[in-house]
Amino acid sequence: MSEICHTYSQQLMGTTVSLQLFVENLPAVSAVFQTIQALETRLTVNRNHSEVMSINHAAGSQPVVVSKLVFDLIRQAKQASLLPHSCFNFAIGPLVKLWKIGFNGHNVPPAEEIAQRLTLANPELIKLNEKNHTVFLTRTGMEIDLGAIAKGYIADITKLVLASYGIHQAIINCGGNVLTIGSSPLSSNQQWHIGLKRPFAAADSLLGILHVQNKSVVTSGIYERYFILNEKLYHHIIDPQSGYPLDNELQSVTIISDNSLTGDIYSTILYGLGVERGLKELEKHQYMGAIFVTKDKKIIIKSNQHFEFKSLADDYQICS
Ligand code: ADP
Ligand code: MG
Ligand code: MG
Repeated sequence: MSEICHTYSQQLMGTTVSLQLFVENLPAVSAVFQTIQALETRLTVNRNHSEVMSINHAAGSQPVVVSKLVFDLIRQAKQASLLPHSCFNFAIGPLVKLWKIGFNGHNVPPAEEIAQRLTLANPELIKLNEKNHTVFLTRTGMEIDLGAIAKGYIADITKLVLASYGIHQAIINCGGNVLTIGSSPLSSNQQWHIGLKRPFAAADSLLGILHVQNKSVVTSGIYERYFILNEKLYHHIIDPQSGYPLDNELQSVTIISDNSLTGDIYSTILYGLGVERGLKELEKHQYMGAIFVTKDKKIIIKSNQHFEFKSLADDYQICS
């Protein structure tokens, strides 16, 4: 194909964000990166000041007014946290801060401390007022953490930004959250080719390639941020039931969906459900496809006709 591809990248949201366009449009590029930066500044819990941090700082004392954009994400985060059997929990902050997985000072905390913080990780104790756009964490020490979904939400918004510049073919990669927009000018069947990473291997080592059009591809896995102590691996998705990293047969779950926020939410939820219950849950969500990768080297594919998968891993067994 003779298409000219323009690639831009910046370090944002603790990762490399890259954008690929097929027309030259620098105002659109800077609008995308500025939007991401502005949203990160509102949503982050890795700095002392942000809209979300102002909610956290007021825990146990008062409701805080937030912008419509932040409120909208928090409303959806609460809904996802209250779904039956959902291990997604946006009130998980006190535990994330205790474990510090992926940050300096990570540790296995004392069991009593985990138990104490678990009582604070309760989404029911987060009160939202739709009319005033206020959020109130009703107990001291509570903390919202949107780390599992902020990138998806932001990726979806960048798609709107690009559309406002008349751009309907692009790909944006927010450190693993990939959003493909429209059809690909790079391949004859107009499908985008997205790599699925091999767990615990070099970044360019792939299990296979997904072929998609106009879809988000989001992975939650145990191999991006973790530490090992006494031969046990501790990764960054915390089980809101136990307070410890979720422990099951999975290495990762990838969700293929129209929007990236949904992909982000369900990659965490299906990760927590494991293969059997995850596949059952997927039956209720025909608008998504998924790939489960297990520790015993199986790749379980449920495409729901949203993608094709070409394996590159002879040592993994494909089940579909
Ligand atoms: P990444 O940060 O690599 O994109 P994920 O999208 O899977 O990975 O999100 C992991 C992050 O989500 C954690 O670093 C933490 O901030 C937050 N988190 C951890 N456990 C949960 C949970 N049970 N529910 C919601 N968010 C969580
Ligand atoms: Mg996620
Ligand atoms: Mg993520």
